[in-house]
Amino acid sequence: MTAEILDGRKTAAELRENVRHKVVAFREAYGVQPTLVAILVGEDPASSVYVRNKEKACAKAGIAGRVLRLPAVVQQSVLVEQIHQLNADAAVHGILVQLPLPTGVDPRPILDAVDPLKDVDCFSPANVGLLMQGRPRFLPCTPAGIIQLLRRYSVSVQGRQVVVVGRSDIVGKPMAMLLAAKDGPCGAEYANATVTLAHSQTADLPATVRQADIVIAACGQPEFIRGDWLKPGAVVIDVGINRSGERLVGDVAFEEASKVASAVTPVPGGVGPLTIAMLLHNTLQAARLHHWAQ
Ligand code: NDP
Repeated sequence: MTAEILDGRKTAAELRENVRHKVVAFREAYGVQPTLVAILVGEDPASSVYVRNKEKACAKAGIAGRVLRLPAVVQQSVLVEQIHQLNADAAVHGILVQLPLPTGVDPRPILDAVDPLKDVDCFSPANVGLLMQGRPRFLPCTPAGIIQLLRRYSVSVQGRQVVVVGRSDIVGKPMAMLLAAKDGPCGAEYANATVTLAHSQTADLPATVRQADIVIAACGQPEFIRGDWLKPGAVVIDVGINRSGERLVGDVAFEEASKVASAVTPVPGGVGPLTIAMLLHNTLQAARLHHWAQ
């Protein structure tokens, strides 16, 4: 079997174009340009690249993207005060704090300081709670991008066994929540899954993964999930982005998986571009919420 490649770049381009059209309509209707501020603390090279990519994507979608750069040694109180100022600024609709924060900075109080109505990453307890209750205000970017990709390729998850490997607050947990919901952003066919949330303490991970019709790999371990862990015909979504020498690799051994799976996402060009597309979608949503609250 040679797996179909699920093209995240193409799907993300379609999503971004869709957001761009909606931004134009929003500006025409209300005279407001959706605005996103990214807070970058320190000079981590990968984070700088991610923030630059977000800025470029904003510009192409007609969204104003600004970066607030702060030194790695910034005090927590100063950072929180900056966030409060952005919360109070009516011209700013979305705020994101680029992770990871420098060593020694506790991300929790920083992320908690972001106004839930501007929390375009969907990290605040209020927004996570709404997501859990099936009435999300914002959708978590990476999981929601994956749901969009599944719909794009008509991979229904309803009634199917899905194994999510990794239980982080950013990817694994919200992914499981969206998949197990009764309904979702793309309808019931792309929800209603029977979900297993696996992690580092899961006993016999290969056997657990082998039960899956759909595998979502988000464990941050390069090429960890092997071809012989997969059920023949499974659909494999690889969230991982890991550096292996000069190459970027996912959490799945791609060549092996391609021989067993029916469909697989590449790394790069799979899930990564979808995350940014959903961030644009959420920024527009934040601008709408702000306008409707006036
Ligand atoms: P975290 O490090 O926060 O979480 C990793 C999760 O994987 C944890 O739950 C951990 O288990 C689990 N895990 C680690 N090792 C194993 C193992 N040997 N067996 C089973 N489970 C294991 O990672 P993130 O969720 O933030 O990111 C995961 C990957 O996705 C990374 O490669 C990251 O770069 C990438 N990523 C990609 C994005 C994109 O847009 N494409 C966006 C965000 C992340 P435990 O809880 O027990 O420690």
